[in-house]
Amino acid sequence: MNYITGAVCVKCGHEQEAAPNTTVCEKCGGILDIKYDYKKIKAALTPQQLKERREQTMWRYMEFLPVEPEIVAKVNKLRVGCSPLYKVDRLADLLGIKALYVKDDGINPSASLKDRASAMAVMKATEAGNNIIACSSTGNAASSLAGNAAAAGYKTYIFVPERAPKGKVSQLMIFGANVISVQGNYEDTFKLSAQAIERFGWYNRNAAINPYLMEGKKTVALEIAEQLDFKMPDYIAISVGDGCTIGGLWKGLKDLYETGFIDRLPKIISVQSTGCCPINRAVTENKPLEPMEENTIADSIAVGVPRNPDKAMNAIRESKGICVNVTDEEILAAMKLLGSFGIFGEPAGVTGTAGLKKAVEDGLIPKDSTVVSVVTGNGLKDTANAIKAGGEPVKLAPDINEFVKWISND
Ligand SMILES: *Cc1c(COP(=O)(O)O)cnc(C)c1O
Ligand SMILES: [Zn+2]
Repeated sequence: MNYITGAVCVKCGHEQEAAPNTTVCEKCGGILDIKYDYKKIKAALTPQQLKERREQTMWRYMEFLPVEPEIVAKVNKLRVGCSPLYKVDRLADLLGIKALYVKDDGINPSASLKDRASAMAVMKATEAGNNIIACSSTGNAASSLAGNAAAAGYKTYIFVPERAPKGKVSQLMIFGANVISVQGNYEDTFKLSAQAIERFGWYNRNAAINPYLMEGKKTVALEIAEQLDFKMPDYIAISVGDGCTIGGLWKGLKDLYETGFIDRLPKIISVQSTGCCPINRAVTENKPLEPMEENTIADSIAVGVPRNPDKAMNAIRESKGICVNVTDEEILAAMKLLGSFGIFGEPAGVTGTAGLKKAVEDGLIPKDSTVVSVVTGNGLKDTANAIKAGGEPVKLAPDINEFVKWISND
């Protein structure tokens, strides 16, 4: 048994049944939101009962998830979720805020937050009786799907744009996916995948089209809340591309609020790259979304035509959040900064922290704020940019005198 009551369209408000392979609104083609019976969840689970649970994965939040527990129990899976939330006091001091927590989601099995969505996709594909799953992605959605599907023993077809970093493509090949490198941008890649999925009837793991993926991603919010003993921070900073991650974060927070697990909602800091910020631009200028070029090193958030702008814009507006755009230089600097605290994120992974730093510097958030910054992907996925951020090591001859000379000048 699960606690879902149906799916509601974010565009036209139409409510329909939520079947395992439900994608968009049957009336208008709009994006769907999964609805729950919050009263029933409340009756079935208390924060105290949750704390006592031994399951150390995202599936510990079963009552909040749109799946059948028997399916989750049956499918072979990786350990997704329950990532650490570090209290980083020296960085809080450095930034000039009261408290900072860094949620390192790069420790997931395929090294990004996307594992939460892909693990969910594998369960819903199972419920739908489909063991071939497909998606298009700039990298992490693909590598996480390939890994989680491999664990379950399922086949995957994955469409990647040609500019995807080698680290991510190598994960796909190792996990045994059927990989198609589309000679075009993300938009072209997405279109081809949609046509192929339609033609061959595979399970669709394309973000936004599939309403269950956000339900997986929202577990990051459930964890943050539990790790903070349900005392919510003032702000949560997160990087934004398609808009599903920020949408999932906000959905998780609202679900917790509706069930009375938390009594206040944090404001969301939506961070994009100055070279590709269509969602932040639309919110800031209060205009309809217009596509942008994809000029940033942060490949995971280089999305010129976001698939989920409505939910992302809702998250920023409803939370009374703020929009911050950062340059590639600021992203590289944030990689180095987090690295100096032992946390290694990929460019899009540290973009939230880069935006937080800028928000404090620009006086957009008060100095006495408590903030959670989510690192969404691991730095080893993109070593070329990591070396740009971190620099090259000193080169010395194998001679102790050379070494002494170097160390005394250092
Ligand atoms: C996908 C991704 C994001 C952004 O998520 P969207 O749903 O596209 O907004 C941020 N960081 C990393 C590392 C990602 O892989
Ligand atoms: Zn609709």
